[in-house]
Amino acid sequence: MSERILVVEDEARVARLVGEILRAVGYEVMTVANGKAALDRLAIERPDLILLDLMLPGDLDGYEVCRRIREFSETPIIMLTARAQENDLLRGFEAGADDYLTKPFSAKELVARVKAVLRRSQRPEETSTATWRCGDLTINFAQHSVQVAGHPVALTRTEYALLRELALHANRVMTHQDLLARVWGPEYRDDVDYLRAYVRYLRRKLEADPSHPRIIVTLAGTGYMLVCPDEGASA
Ligand code: CA
Repeated sequence: MSERILVVEDEARVARLVGEILRAVGYEVMTVANGKAALDRLAIERPDLILLDLMLPGDLDGYEVCRRIREFSETPIIMLTARAQENDLLRGFEAGADDYLTKPFSAKELVARVKAVLRRSQRPEETSTATWRCGDLTINFAQHSVQVAGHPVALTRTEYALLRELALHANRVMTHQDLLARVWGPEYRDDVDYLRAYVRYLRRKLEADPSHPRIIVTLAGTGYMLVCPDEGASA
């Protein structure tokens, strides 16, 4: 069964082109032209991925649609935008987007990003039931759940994937390139902005004082390390 992609785009020409490109490589494509229609469609259909234009007509722009989708769905979202400012990228991630594609993009770029995001969302379930502990931080790899001092912390899929890589390599330096390749995929090795944004989100959720991190420390110009004095205690 082919994977299904919902395209939310008001420019008919772009929507048609994106549809043609994706159908040509075997995806099933549905198209809607505004945010309200996207939310309605999502409630009945279950696409595997959403391509969401940032500038949409009506009350709901792409950020708002993204936030509303994330209230009830983990379906991966790639934002389409004519802008390329770092601020927009960060705003998109904060709203819950998984990736970004700046217009104009080539057919090759579109297909590569779609494949990478689908691949990340379809990781096989972990079979390990081990609980990993480090100070106040507890990760249950089987349930993908995280607690700090006994309180559950809600992480997005990407936040969890990054934390998991850092934890599995605790007390070892993970370079920017290593982390990007492991969490996002090899074609993301140079997207250090993505990594910085997600380290910031994780610190906000995990650290007692996010501006003076003690769990995820920065190695300037190199990467990050999850510091764990009592590493690996598992139950
Ligand atoms: Ca638009």
